[in-house]
Amino acid sequence: MVCCYAVRDGDSAYLIDTGFVGGLNVIEKALEQEGWCELTLKGILLTHGHLDHTLNAEAIASRHDAWVMAPGADRSLLEGDFSGEGLGRVGGVMQQAGAALLNYRKPDEIIWYQKETRFDFPAGIEIVPLPGHTAGHSGFLLGRHLFCGDAFASFADFPHLPPQIFNNDTEQAKVSLGVIAGMDIDGVFPHHCDKASPEVHLERLRRMAASIK
Ligand SMILES: [Zn+2]
Repeated sequence: MVCCYAVRDGDSAYLIDTGFVGGLNVIEKALEQEGWCELTLKGILLTHGHLDHTLNAEAIASRHDAWVMAPGADRSLLEGDFSGEGLGRVGGVMQQAGAALLNYRKPDEIIWYQKETRFDFPAGIEIVPLPGHTAGHSGFLLGRHLFCGDAFASFADFPHLPPQIFNNDTEQAKVSLGVIAGMDIDGVFPHHCDKASPEVHLERLRRMAASIK
């Protein structure tokens, strides 16, 4: 239902988002299968503050003694307050209920990033602000690929924008989609998607962006 990614830099690994229910075991298993469990999991980068990306951040961070970075503009979401404004309000109520049900715990310590924050880890990764889905929603550019968070959901039969009820500002989300479509990159890694290649995901995104102009 939700994808997250691991990036390797030498003998360190970093997670981009942390998945949803059951994600904890799936992530640990995937790292093991790749032979990456010997690496030090140093950090967790969060694209935005929605529960299906952040639910396991606290558990993984404390298990691996990893830091957590999240967008400063999504601070209230990360702190467990999902009562959104406007279009996001219904989705906010749903997430609030989910957080209580699933016992969401905020990571002990969060390093808040802003659009101008520069990381030197993993080597060369850059923040690309993609607001709209949430105020702080961001992608991470690594080489010629972009981890694009929830800019869109990429399924062969039905690539789509996130449902309006989960967006802070759908018009802004469309603008952000256009920003990605115009980037000189080779592929994207979405967080709700099938197993197509990053190149195919990017093709779908560009087709979508062209159709909603
Ligand atoms: Zn989301």
